[in-house]
Amino acid sequence: MLQFKEFVEELCPECGEDHEGECSHEAVSPAQRRARKQAYLLKTMKKYGDAAKMGIPADQVNQRRNTPTRKKS
Ligand SMILES: [Zn+2]
Repeated sequence: MLQFKEFVEELCPECGEDHEGECSHEAVSPAQRRARKQAYLLKTMKKYGDAAKMGIPADQVNQRRNTPTRKKS
């Protein structure tokens, strides 16, 4: 089982969101950043919960999608 903490640590330190490449967001306050991380964490936990219900193992869920999607093998 993957640790949700790992996902949070992938988040952009500038804006607290999950995106690839350069940060194009405006700088946000630490409180906003925490709120975004919390929202992302809840969304991620729900996604993995849904994936489990659909019979998709956590390590096969595509991290870049909002809905449970099996990774291409
Ligand atoms: Zn960013």
